[in-house]
Amino acid sequence: MKGYSFLSLARQALGGHKGWPLVWRSPEPKKSYDVLIIGAGGHGLATAYYLARNHSVKNIAVLDKGWLGGGNSGRNTQITRSNYFWPQSAAFFDHSLRLYEHLSRELNFNVMLSQRGILTLAHSVHELEGIRRWANAIKINDVDAEVLTPFEVKKLVPMINLDCRFPVHGGFIQRRGGISRHDAVVWGYARAASALGVDIIQQCEVTGFDIQSDRVMGVKTTRGTIGADRVSFAVAGHTSHLAKMAGFRVPVTSMQLQAMVSEPIKPCLDTVVTSSVIHMYVSQSDRGELVFGGGADIYNSYAQRGGIPVLQENVAALLELLPAFSRLRLMRQWAGIVDITPDTSPLMGHTPVQNLYFSGGWGTGGYKAIPAGGETMAHTIANDQPHPLIRDFGLERFKSGLLIDEGAASGVAH
Ligand SMILES: Cc1cc2nc3c(=O)[nH]c(=O)nc-3n(C[C@H](O)[C@H](O)[C@H](O)COP(=O)(O)OP(=O)(O)OC[C@H]3O[C@@H](n4cnc5c(N)ncnc54)[C@H](O)[C@@H]3O)c2cc1C
Repeated sequence: MKGYSFLSLARQALGGHKGWPLVWRSPEPKKSYDVLIIGAGGHGLATAYYLARNHSVKNIAVLDKGWLGGGNSGRNTQITRSNYFWPQSAAFFDHSLRLYEHLSRELNFNVMLSQRGILTLAHSVHELEGIRRWANAIKINDVDAEVLTPFEVKKLVPMINLDCRFPVHGGFIQRRGGISRHDAVVWGYARAASALGVDIIQQCEVTGFDIQSDRVMGVKTTRGTIGADRVSFAVAGHTSHLAKMAGFRVPVTSMQLQAMVSEPIKPCLDTVVTSSVIHMYVSQSDRGELVFGGGADIYNSYAQRGGIPVLQENVAALLELLPAFSRLRLMRQWAGIVDITPDTSPLMGHTPVQNLYFSGGWGTGGYKAIPAGGETMAHTIANDQPHPLIRDFGLERFKSGLLIDEGAASGVAH
């Protein structure tokens, strides 16, 4: 892989930018691999990258039925934060945020991390009490959190309407939270994995597993059968489909989650604002567009569109809190399919089938988890032992009852 640097940019500029090599290879699938990963989203690609980089696994392929980054990793609203409530989540998500802080250098690809802070609002005295408890728990978990008065909220976001239908009583901020560029994260991992010899095979749908004596031996795909010692899947909104193909069930419900952007305007919002009561979150992208959304659509579906009533609710919620945006035009709207678990925490690790692993149930918040998700899944696959950071996120917690209920910290906050 040719590194990106000031010198290479200058050299290419002199040559009219005609000499850039392809960013990743697109090989034909081989007959078999040591590790096959299904799903070329952020999680699948990061897992492949860390398997090759940290565990020296040489013969790896990532398969995708569409194009890489065409799933939720290219559809999300890019929020990165680690202000979770429970110690297991805080440890995992803060590790992820720390990996994000060095990711541009690690991948030699600018992921445009902007730690502009993420502000969570409280709309009643009781909610503020809850937020104080949440912020204290976060601090005990060694993650940064600061409770703010309404005056401090107004100073941070001057155009906010504190006297909206549910008046703002304060909030809390994680200053290390913010956004990064989702396409860059996916492309950065794809480029770095490809350079380490990982085969990325697009337009290759997995239609079944080859399982013999409870052990996975390979996968059936639209491009033929491919053998593998170990297989892992990270397919976001299709976890239950893949699990069904492998003969087990997962406790997830699949819903549409939509987001939208306004026309671009000059910089006016330099923090991410979220509200669970008004039910919306918003940030301003580097292009100047307002990127916003709210909760998942109200019925189960596999259509990547999103319904109009929820779109209207999201816009109304934005304008309730930030009425100055009322004359902006909406430019684009889209949706992704998210798999939500009963405790809104992810499902990671072993499956009931030997040598078959998975990472799913990320719901509305798995983008921020991509670096740690990839690193810990790579460790789990390479050693056939769950990484200590994800030991509590296995499927067995739904038998033991040891749930990690992050309903409050996930919800609309992404
Ligand atoms: C609108 C929206 C906003 C969001 N906002 C945020 C946010 O701000 N912050 C945050 O942390 N998270 C957010 N999320 C969640 C986040 O995007 C996801 O949790 C994360 O991207 C999941 O990554 P992944 O790699 O597991 O899945 P994906 O990126 O969806 O990749 C899965 C891939 O699997 C492929 N696939 C599926 N079935 C098969 C098959 N049978 N064979 C081969 N390939 C298959 C798909 O084509 C897809 O490319 C948001 C999600 C949405 C939809």
